[in-house]
Amino acid sequence: MTSILIVEDEERISTFVEKGLAAAGYTPTVVTSGLDAVDYLMTGSFDLVLLDVGLPGIDGFEVLTRVRASGSSVPIIMLTARSSVEDTVAGLDGGANDYLPKPFKFDELVARVRLRLRESGQQVTVEQVLQHGDLSLDLRTRRITVGEVSMDLSAREFGLAEQFLRHPEQVLSREQLLSRVWGFDFDPGSNVVDVYVRYLRGKIGADRIETVRGMGYRLV
Ligand code: CA
Repeated sequence: MTSILIVEDEERISTFVEKGLAAAGYTPTVVTSGLDAVDYLMTGSFDLVLLDVGLPGIDGFEVLTRVRASGSSVPIIMLTARSSVEDTVAGLDGGANDYLPKPFKFDELVARVRLRLRESGQQVTVEQVLQHGDLSLDLRTRRITVGEVSMDLSAREFGLAEQFLRHPEQVLSREQLLSRVWGFDFDPGSNVVDVYVRYLRGKIGADRIETVRGMGYRLV
């Protein structure tokens, strides 16, 4: 099953793309705002993203920035009516994998989707497991292994574990974890990070994630 997130606020286009991708054997999901897109992408459960530039709330470039800042390398194809050179350059500089100006033919879209999925398949084999000491996190199965014991993680636990394993021995502040894992305007006073760190400690062992008083958390 190949899951594709379609981020598009024009129903005419999202319906057309969704039906076409479903008919081509993919599993499409449509969201219509930038904030929803970021939230969905933080679950890490999509294989590719079709991202419109002009969106209500935060635009496609801002979605791109936030998703890449979270460490995600999901392939992203930008869709836009603004087929100017500046937008193409901004998108590719911002970490987009491809760029498709509207209006496009469905066949062209599917050809790009296939190409980018094939490329990302190669990337995934390069980096599918993050490791630190006897901890390893499989980015595809989303399971964490401690020594010989392997277990499932919830989406948020996985997001946190991924941040810690990408930055081992570094102090990560609550604000960094909140913006990278939850990804949007959560109340900075929220204790959701502490709650999920506790869940993760419950799974991998309390002493592996150190509390650095007044600063945040560190994977040791
Ligand atoms: Ca739009």
